[in-house]
Amino acid sequence: MTEPRSTFPHGTILGYPRIGRRRELKRAVEAYWAGATDAPTLEQTAAGLRRATRERLAALGLGRDDSSIPESFSFYDQVHDAAVTVGALPERFAALRDADGAIGIDAYFTAARGAGDDAPLEMTKWFDTNYHFLVPEIGPETVFSLSSDRFARQVAEAKADGFTVRPVVVGPVTLLALAKAAVPTPTPRAAGASRGASGRVGPAAPQGFDPLSRLDDLLPVYAELLSALRAAGAEWVQLDEPALVSESLPADAAVLADAAARAYAALGVRGDRPAILVAAGYAQLSPQAWTALAAAPIEAIAIDLTRGAVPDAVPGLDRKTLVGGVVDGRNVWRGDLDAAWERLQALSAVGASEISAGTSTSLQHVPHDVADESALDPRLASWLAFADQKVAQVVTLATGLVEGREAIAEPLAEASAALADRRSAPGVRDGAVRERAAVLDAGDFERGDYDARVAAQDAELALPVLPTTTIGSFPQTGDIRRARARHGRGELGADEYQRFLRDEIARVVTLQEDIGLDVLVHGEAERNDMVQYFAENLDGFAVTENGWVQSYGSRATRPSILWGDVSRPTAITVAWSTFAQSLTDKPMKGMLTGPVTILAWSFVRDDQPLGETANQVALALRDEIADLEGAGIRVIQVDEPALRELLPLKAADQPAYLEWSVGSFRLATAGAAPATQVHTHLCYSEFDVVIDAIAALDADVTSIEAARSRGEVIGDIRASGFAAGIGPGVYDIHSPRVPSVDEITDLLDRTVGELSLRRVWVNPDCGLKTRGYDETVASLRNLVEATGLVRERVGVSL
Ligand code: GLN
Ligand code: ZN
Repeated sequence: MTEPRSTFPHGTILGYPRIGRRRELKRAVEAYWAGATDAPTLEQTAAGLRRATRERLAALGLGRDDSSIPESFSFYDQVHDAAVTVGALPERFAALRDADGAIGIDAYFTAARGAGDDAPLEMTKWFDTNYHFLVPEIGPETVFSLSSDRFARQVAEAKADGFTVRPVVVGPVTLLALAKAAVPTPTPRAAGASRGASGRVGPAAPQGFDPLSRLDDLLPVYAELLSALRAAGAEWVQLDEPALVSESLPADAAVLADAAARAYAALGVRGDRPAILVAAGYAQLSPQAWTALAAAPIEAIAIDLTRGAVPDAVPGLDRKTLVGGVVDGRNVWRGDLDAAWERLQALSAVGASEISAGTSTSLQHVPHDVADESALDPRLASWLAFADQKVAQVVTLATGLVEGREAIAEPLAEASAALADRRSAPGVRDGAVRERAAVLDAGDFERGDYDARVAAQDAELALPVLPTTTIGSFPQTGDIRRARARHGRGELGADEYQRFLRDEIARVVTLQEDIGLDVLVHGEAERNDMVQYFAENLDGFAVTENGWVQSYGSRATRPSILWGDVSRPTAITVAWSTFAQSLTDKPMKGMLTGPVTILAWSFVRDDQPLGETANQVALALRDEIADLEGAGIRVIQVDEPALRELLPLKAADQPAYLEWSVGSFRLATAGAAPATQVHTHLCYSEFDVVIDAIAALDADVTSIEAARSRGEVIGDIRASGFAAGIGPGVYDIHSPRVPSVDEITDLLDRTVGELSLRRVWVNPDCGLKTRGYDETVASLRNLVEATGLVRERVGVSL
C-alpha cells in the first residue's frame, strides 16, 4: 500500500470533545464502573457517540472521506490511550492483561483509577490547560508492544459508516517526554481530584533514568501501529507532539527536537503507513523542532498561530502541508475571523506546498455548542463560539482558501460585526471599573511591614504555637448537594435553603470546637464550586447550562464565562462568615477565591491583557475583604490553587505572568489592616518553581499541599528563606486513609526541626469537600492530638 498520499483537506480540527453533548460518556462510563452495565453496552454507547460526532462534523461541513474529521475519542484520556496501545502498562497491573497480552478496557480503567493497594497512574495538568492526563510510567524494563487495536478498530468502524477519519494519537516524543520513571512512593494526583489510598507503585527506576532514552525501543511499535491504521483504512494519521512547544518539561527544546528528528525519520521512511500530520499546539514550536519537522519525511505539520507567530521559512517545507491553527481551540470566543484569515495568508508566504485552516489545539477544551445555551443572553451568545461554531469557522476559512476571499466575504463580515458589537456593548467596558483601575498606584499593592503585622495579629488573635486549622471546605454531603439541587429547581424556597445552610454551618462550627481546632472555618456548604460561586455573584460573568468541559476521566466542569468588566454588586460571603463567627469565640476565617484562580478556571475575555482582568477581580475581592473586616472577621484566606498552573509554557513569558498574577493577589489583599491575618492556600507540591512568587504574595500564612512529598517541600521552603507563616499539609485529603497520631507527630517533629517553630501551622493538604465525615473527623482529631504532643515537647524551648 504505497500509493501516493491523498492530499490534506483544506480545513480540519485537531480534535473534538468526547464527553458527549449531555455528558453521555460520563454517565456510560460511571455506570460501567458501578457494575450497572456491561462492557458491550459501554462499547455500544461509545460507538454511538463516535457516530454522532462524525455525522455532526460532516453536517458542519467537514468532509466524509477526505480525512478532515479527526477520530479523537477517548474513554478516559488520550495519553493513557497511547501508553496502553504501546503496552506501557505499569507492572503492578500486568495481571490484568488478556491471555494474549492485550490490554482490555478493564486493565485500561484500573490503571487509571487504581485498585486496592495498587495506586493508579498519577494525574497532572496537560500543558497550561485545566485538563489532566494520566502520567505514563516507563522504566528501563518496560516492554513496548502493540497491546490494543482500539485505534484501528475505530478507523474501521468509521469506514463501515462511509467515513475516512484521521486517527489522533499522542506522538512518541510527547508520550515519553510526559512520562515519569516509576518511583516507589505513593502516587500523587492533581488538585481537586479524588484518588484512592496510596499504595504500591512498582519497582524504582535507576536514579536519573529518563523515559525519553527509550525512544528507539518505542518507535517500532509506533511503526506497527501506523501500519495497522493504514490497513484499517486510514489515509492520514495525526500524531500530537505538543511537547515540542514546551519549555516546562524536564527535557529541553534541543533534546526534544532531536528526538522528533529521529522519531519522524524512522516513522517517515516506512512505506506501509498513512500520511503523517504532526500537530503541535498550545504555543509556538521551538525553532529547533520547527526545523526538524520541516526536514522530516512527513507530509504535514499543524502549528498554533493563536499562541505563536508565523514561523520562518526553513528547508523542507516545499514538500509539506502546513495546517495553520488560526481558530483558537481553547477559548469560547467567536473572535476575529478576518485576522485569522490574514494569518493564513501570512503563513502561505513561508513556502509550504499547501496551506490548510485549522484549530490551534483539539477542541476538547471547549464545550460542544452555543446553541445548547438557551438561557444565555442572545447578545452574549452571538459573540461566542464553542466547538461546533469553531468547526464552522474552520470550514469557512477552508472555503476561502479554495475559492478566494470573496467567497467568504459574508461570514467574515458577520464575524466582524459581532466583534464590533461586543466592543461597544454595555458591560464590556464599565466606566466606573475602569476609572478605579486607572488610578491605582504602588501603595495599593503594599500591605506594610511584615513584623508590625505579626505583632498586631499576635495581639489580636492570641493563638497558641503551632496553630491548627483546615483549608476551608468540610465534606459536601449528599444532603447538601440535594438541598442545593432542590433549591435550584425551585423546590426548596430561599428561606428554607438559608436555614438549611445555617444549620449546616452551625454543625461544622460545633464540630471544630469539639475537635479543638484553633482557627475555624464555616465549611463552604453554600458553594457549588469555589470559582463558579464567585462568578455567579460578580457582574461581568455568565454561567452556562451545558457548557461542560472534560477535566479528567469522567469528570467535567462548567467554567463560567468572564465576558465584561468585573464588579461586585453587593457583599458575597459576609453574611455566612459573620453568622459562623457569631457561633464561636475562636477566630473564623473568611474564605475567598483569589483573582488568578478565578481567571484560570473560567473562560476569560480575550480582548484585554489578563492582568487587567485580574485587577478588576482583585478590586472586587478587596471590597469583600473590607466588608469582612468591617463585620469583625479577623482572619481571611484568599485561595490561589491555580497560581502554578497558569504559568506560561515559555520561560520568556513567565516573568510577566508572575508580575501580574502576584500583583493581582496583592491588590486584592493589600487593603487589609495589619491586624487582619491574611492566609492563602495553594495545592501542589512541586512549588519550588514558584516559591519566590508565593513569597511575593506577601500573605501572613500560606498553606500548601505537602503530605505526599513532605521532605522536598520543607527543604524547598527552608532553602528559599521563606519567612512568613507556613502550613505544609500534614495529611493527604485525596485519600480516605486516616493518618495516625504517630505519623503526624513525626511529620511535625521534622517540620519544626527545619522551620522556625513560630511560623509553622498545622493543617491538612487541601479542602475536605470530597471526603466523608468519618475519616474527616478521625483525621482531624489525630491532627489535633499530634499537635498537642509536639507542643508539649517543644514548649520549654519557646
Ligand atoms: N478553600 C477551598 C476548599 O477548602 C480550597 C480548595 C482548593 O484548594 N482547591 O475547598
Ligand atoms: Zn488545595
